[in-house]
Amino acid sequence: MERLQKVIAQAGITSRRKAEELILEGKVKVNGEVVTQLGTKVSATDVIEVNGIKVEREQKVYFLFYKPRGVVSTVSDDRGRKTVLDFFKGYVEQRIFPVGRLDYDTSGLLLLTNDGEFANLMTHPKYKIEKTYIARLKGIPSFEDIKKLRKGIMLEDGMTAPAKVELKKIDRKANKAICEITIHEGRNRQVRRMFEAIGTPVVKLKRERFAFLDLKGLNAGEFRELTPHEVKQLR
Ligand code: URA
Repeated sequence: MERLQKVIAQAGITSRRKAEELILEGKVKVNGEVVTQLGTKVSATDVIEVNGIKVEREQKVYFLFYKPRGVVSTVSDDRGRKTVLDFFKGYVEQRIFPVGRLDYDTSGLLLLTNDGEFANLMTHPKYKIEKTYIARLKGIPSFEDIKKLRKGIMLEDGMTAPAKVELKKIDRKANKAICEITIHEGRNRQVRRMFEAIGTPVVKLKRERFAFLDLKGLNAGEFRELTPHEVKQLR
């Protein structure tokens, strides 16, 4: 369910402010009835009319994208860098946006949708959705360090929640290691900051999983639609 003024604004008819005015002026109908209450919530199947004209609502779409490194996960970039949306141009007409973010230098699984409610659910800390990353590290973390990450570690913005951490590979000669880490928070550059805090900075980072979803069948730069079943499972 979404607020009426938001749905009207999202359909691209007018701004949210103007939509509120139209509602107050009695120019908006829901299922044939005039609605003047600003807080009114509507569902996807409610028929909305503004000034007697039916509001065409965008079909909700959900994509799983394998973000390459060197791409920003915003809808536009004032420095002219490539954005994740560039990969969808000509294929998707809905106004999609990324669900959360991956750093410019991070590759891996990123969801995109035009469903704001879904995006909020997926990023809200309350829902504790697990995200798994493969981190290539400079240096080799000690077992004590790994334990610290597992328990929670102090960063500038507070303690991290307990994480699942597994040392996957150690190369003593080259002084490097590969770690798999699963977190359910989504703070800015969190994984990089966690490994920095134990003195083994990340040199390469990839998100391999988001909840039960993975990158199987996709190459960097490719995407697929989520199945209705997958969307339902995530909600
Ligand atoms: N943690 C990071 O440090 N970077 C990302 O892109 C995602 C999680």
